[in-house]
Amino acid sequence: MTTTVIGESFRPGELEVRSDGTGNLLGSKCRSCGAHFFPIRQACAGCLGQDLETVKFSTEGTLYTYTIVRQSTPAFEVPYALGYVDFPEGVRIMGQIVGVEFDEIAIGMPMTLVLEPFGKDEDGNALTGYRFRPAEADND
Ligand SMILES: [Zn+2]
Repeated sequence: MTTTVIGESFRPGELEVRSDGTGNLLGSKCRSCGAHFFPIRQACAGCLGQDLETVKFSTEGTLYTYTIVRQSTPAFEVPYALGYVDFPEGVRIMGQIVGVEFDEIAIGMPMTLVLEPFGKDEDGNALTGYRFRPAEADND
């Protein structure tokens, strides 16, 4: 038994959360043209087809670009890094970057998905959000 208490996706249907604390971002794949989308869509933005299936995205991607946010709404403590990560399926997903000093963030660096607690819903149930952190260095 794991003691990790991890809740539902903070935005319904955006994240599959497993009991071990791992998970995947969820999106749509068009069965007609093969395009992928995040988050889930009802119709394909490429071919306008409506035959879409829900897919899990890879947890590893590449940092496309980023910025350091120094002013935000009171709900978010600043400064923080915000980036776009490109995933192998062809989707570009925005998220907060954690686990690295700002001056060590580099465009093109490999990133990995991390799930983190994201407050509670109005009924007090724990919610889970996602962030990105640099992937462990390897020899690619
Ligand atoms: Zn399509």
